Amino acid sequence: MNLSKNINSAHQTFLDWKKVPFGERQKLLLKLADVLDKNKEDYAKIITTEMHKPITQSVAEIEKSAGMIRYYAKADNVLKPEKIKTEFDVSEVHYDALGIILGVMPWNFPFWQVLRFAIPAILAGNVVLLKHASICFGSGDAIEKAFSDAGFPKFIFQNLRIGHDDIKTILENPYVRGVSLTGSEKAGASVAALAGKSIKKSVLELGGSDAFIVLEDADLEKAAKDGAAAKLQNTGQVCNAAKRFIVHQSIEKAFVPQFIEVYNSYQPADPLKKDTKLGKMARPDLADELEAQYKKAQRHGAEVVLALERIDDSTFRPGIIKVEEGNPILKEELFGPLAILMIGKNDEDILKLANDIPFGLGNAVWTKDKKRAQFFIENLESGTVSVNKSTSSDIRLPFGGAKASGYGVELSLHAIKEFTQIKTVVGN
Ligand code: NDP
Repeated sequence: MNLSKNINSAHQTFLDWKKVPFGERQKLLLKLADVLDKNKEDYAKIITTEMHKPITQSVAEIEKSAGMIRYYAKADNVLKPEKIKTEFDVSEVHYDALGIILGVMPWNFPFWQVLRFAIPAILAGNVVLLKHASICFGSGDAIEKAFSDAGFPKFIFQNLRIGHDDIKTILENPYVRGVSLTGSEKAGASVAALAGKSIKKSVLELGGSDAFIVLEDADLEKAAKDGAAAKLQNTGQVCNAAKRFIVHQSIEKAFVPQFIEVYNSYQPADPLKKDTKLGKMARPDLADELEAQYKKAQRHGAEVVLALERIDDSTFRPGIIKVEEGNPILKEELFGPLAILMIGKNDEDILKLANDIPFGLGNAVWTKDKKRAQFFIENLESGTVSVNKSTSSDIRLPFGGAKASGYGVELSLHAIKEFTQIKTVVGN
C-alpha cells in the first residue's frame, strides 16, 4: 500500500471539505444514516462473520450508529465563532478543522466505534484515515463504501488495510494532525507516545473494569437482570461493561442466587441465529488469554461461583469468580464472559473496592436512597456514573474515561470540538 498517496489524496479532499458549510456537511450525514438503515442486515452479517457477535446485537449496533449520525446531522453548530466582550472591537473564538485524523479501532464494535469517532471529526471539517483491527477489514471497507454511496467527497474516509507497524509512518506525516484510538492500554500507550513525539493530539478510549454496585435497598430483581445483560452483551467484550459486581454483605444471600440464575440463562449458540444471546469470542487467542486470567485469579485465592467452561477454541459457558482485595487480577481487564463478584461491608468499603483499580470508565450504583447515591456520584473515579441503570453510552451525553481508561471526549456536542484548533481572534 502506498501510504503517502493515501495521505496526499486525503489532504487534497481536506482543503475543499473544510470550506463546506456546517449545514451542507450535515445534509450528507443524513444520507449516510439512510445508507446504514438500508444496508443494516448486510452490515450486521459482516460484523457477525468477522467477530462473532450475536446477529441481533450486530443489527442493534448499526441502528445505534445510524441514530448517532442523525443526532449530529441535526446538531446545533457549536463551531460558530463565539464573541467575547472585551475592550477590543473584535474578540472571538474560532474553531478550525485540523486536517487528517487517524482512527485506530478495535474489533468489538466494528461499525459503532469507528463512526463514533469519525462522524464528529468529519462534521468539524476534518478527513479520516482508518486503521481497523486486522480481523475487521471487511467492516472498514463497508464503511468506506457507505460514505461514498452517501455522496461524500472521495477520500473523505479511507479504510487502510495495514498492520499497526504502519501507524508510526502515518503519524509522522505533517498532514496528519491527530489520532483517536479505542482498544487496549498497551495499544493506547504506544500510539499516544508516537503522537506525542510528533506533537499531535490523541484521544484514547481504553479498557475498563467497571463496578456494578448493589446496595441492600436496591431493586434486586432488576439489578440481577440488568447486571447479567450488562456483563454478557457482546460476549463480555465491551469496554464499559459491568465487570465487577460489588454487593453489600447483607444481601449477598438474596442477590447472588438471583444473579447466577439470570446470568446462567446466557448460553453460547450460533451467533448468526436470531435467538442467540451469547456468541463466541472474537479470536481464539483472546479466549486463551481469558482462560489464563481465570486460572491466575484462582491461584491468588479467587473462589469459583460459576465455572467458566471452555467448549471450543473461542466459546465459553459464562463464569463468575469471587475475588478479594489484593488479588492481582483486579489490575487487569477481563474481556469475555467472566464476571468478578466482590462483597463490601459498608458504603465506604464498597467505594474503596470500586476505586482501587487502574481504570475508571463507567461505574453503576443501585440504591433507592438518594443521599447514598450522591455519595457514590461524588466519589467514584470514572468518566460516567449510572444510577439504578447499567452503564451504556448515550449519543447525547459525553463519553470518556478516567485514569488508565483514557482521555478525551466522544459523543455529545463536546466531541465536535475534539479535533479542532481553538483560534483566538482579537484586535481593532
Ligand atoms: P488491541 O488494543 O491490541 O487492538 C485495538 C487496535 O489497536 C487494533 O486496530 C490493533 O491493530 C491496534 N494495535 C494493537 N497493538 C498496537 C500497537 N502496539 N500499536 C498500535 N496499534 C496497535 O486489542 P486486542 O485485539 O489485542 O485485544 C487485547 C485486549 O485489549 C482485550 O482482551 C481487551 O482487554 C482489550 N481491548 C479493549 C477494547 C475496549 O473497547 N476497551 C477493545 C479491544 C480490546 P491489530 O488488530 O492490527 O493488532
